[in-house]
Amino acid sequence: MRPRVDLFRGLRFRLTFSYLLLFSALLVVIGLYFRHNLQFQTEGDVRALLEEVWGDAKGYLRIENYRPQWTADQLDPGDAHIMERLRYIILLTDSNGNILVDSPVYESIGIDSLSEIRRIIALPEPEVHVRSDAAGTPYLIKAGVMLDDRGERYFFAVGRSLADSVHTVKTFTTDYFLSLLAIIPLTGLLGWALAGRAIQPVNEVAQAAQKITGSNLSLQIPLRGSGDELDNLIGSFNRMTTRLEDSFEQIRRFSTDVSHELRTPLTAIRGQLEVALFTAQTVEQYRDAMVNALEDVEQLSSIVRALLLLSQAESGQVVLQKTTFDLGEVAEDVVDQFQIPAEEKHVRLTARIEPDMKILADRVQIERLFSNLLSNAVKYTPANGTVQVRIRRDEKKNWARIEIEDTGVGIAAENLPHIFDRFYRVRNAETNLIQGLGLGLSFVAWIVKAHGGQIDVTSTVGAGTRFTIRIPAEAPAGTAVSEDHPAPAEAQRL
Ligand code: ADP
Repeated sequence: MRPRVDLFRGLRFRLTFSYLLLFSALLVVIGLYFRHNLQFQTEGDVRALLEEVWGDAKGYLRIENYRPQWTADQLDPGDAHIMERLRYIILLTDSNGNILVDSPVYESIGIDSLSEIRRIIALPEPEVHVRSDAAGTPYLIKAGVMLDDRGERYFFAVGRSLADSVHTVKTFTTDYFLSLLAIIPLTGLLGWALAGRAIQPVNEVAQAAQKITGSNLSLQIPLRGSGDELDNLIGSFNRMTTRLEDSFEQIRRFSTDVSHELRTPLTAIRGQLEVALFTAQTVEQYRDAMVNALEDVEQLSSIVRALLLLSQAESGQVVLQKTTFDLGEVAEDVVDQFQIPAEEKHVRLTARIEPDMKILADRVQIERLFSNLLSNAVKYTPANGTVQVRIRRDEKKNWARIEIEDTGVGIAAENLPHIFDRFYRVRNAETNLIQGLGLGLSFVAWIVKAHGGQIDVTSTVGAGTRFTIRIPAEAPAGTAVSEDHPAPAEAQRL
C-alpha cells in the first residue's frame, strides 16, 4: 500500500510551490528592472530632444519692443523643420501673463496661471516638469526666463510629448506580464513533474520500508546504487533494522533464558513440596523439604533482584555511595570467597595486589564487579586452568588498574563487542552447559561507567581472556550514576 500524504503537506507540493514562488518573484523583479530601464532610456531621449528645442528657441526667437521676432530663414528647409518642431509646444508671456506666442497643443495642456508664470520668472534656472492634457497624454515641459532687448524678464516654455515613451513602456509591461501569466503555470507544471520524479525514489523506499515488520526485520531495502543521499539513508535504515533485529533476537533469547532460569527452581520447589505433602511423615522431613524449598526460593528472588537492580542502575535510579577504602583488601576478600569454587573445578586462583591502594568508590559495587568477573573467569575456565587477579597503580596518575586473566575457553572476536550487552550470552559447545543470565558483564560495565573508569577485554578462543579495568582512585564525591538521568532523592542503594 502506498503511504498516504496530505497533498498540501507533501514534499512534492512544497518543492513545486517554493520553486514556483522563487521563480515568479525572480521573473517579476527582472521585469520591473527592465521596465525601469526602458522608461529611463525613452524619457532620456525626450529630455535630450527638449534640450535641443530649448537651445533652438534661444537662437531663433528674440523679443524686441515687446514683440516676438523669429530669426529663421523661411526658405531654408533645415530652419523650417526647426521652426515647426519649436512651435509645436510653446508659450511666451510677459510677467503679467499676456500671451505673446503659444501653440494649440500648449493650450490643450493648459496655459499657466499668473502666479505660476511669476513663480517661474523668479527662478534662477529653468524647471522641467511633466503635465498631461485632458486626454491624459503626458508632456515634458521646460519653463524658464527669456530676456528682451531691454532686459525685461518673460515667461517662456517649450515641451515634447512623452506619449511614445509611455506607450513603449506600457506595451512592454503588458506584453511581459501577460506572458508571465502563461509562463508561470507552465513552469509550475514542469516543476510538479520534476518534483514528482525527484521524490519517486523516496516513495519507493517508503513502500519498501512498510513491508518491514517486527517479524520480518531481516528484510533489507535494496540500494539504488546511485551513491546519493537517498542511498545513504537506505544504508542507515538497513543498519538500523539490523540493530533492531539483533535487539529483538536478544529479547527473545532473554525471555527464553529467564523462563528457563525461573522454571528450574520453581520445578524444584514444586517437587519438594509435593514429595513432602505425599510422603513426609515426621516434622523433620517436613522441615527438610521446607528448607530446600526456601533455598530455591532464595535463588529465584536473587534472579528477580538482579534483573530489577540492573534496570534501576541502567535507568539512573541508583546513586553511588562512595567511601575511601583499600581496593586490595576488597579484592582479596572476594578472591578468598572464590577459592572454594575454583578448587572444586581444579582451577588455580591467584592474586598479585599492590599494597595500600586507597580508592574513593562504592565498596559494594566494587565487590560486585570483582565477584562478577571472578565468577565468569572460574565458570569459563576448564580444569587445570588458572585465573589471576592483578591490581596496581596505573601509569595514568592516580588511577587503579585491575586485571583479571584466565586461561579459559575465550571469546570469539565476533562476540566480543556484544558481551557487555544486557542478556547477551555466547552460545557454543563450551558455554551451552554453563548457566548464566547474561547480566553479569552488564553490571560490570555499568559499575565501571558510573565510576568514570574504562574497561577493555582481549581474548583468544581456547587460550583465555583478560579483562582490564581502570578506575580513577579519587573520583569527585557524590558522582551521579548517570549523566542522562539525575538520581532521584529516594534512590536505592544496590
Ligand atoms: P553470564 O551470566 O552468561 O556469564 P555475563 O554477562 O557475565 O553473563 O557474560 C556474558 C557472556 O560473555 C557469557 O555468556 C560468556 O559467553 C562470555 N564471557 C564472560 N566472561 C568470560 C570469560 N572470562 N571467558 C570466556 N567467556 C566469557
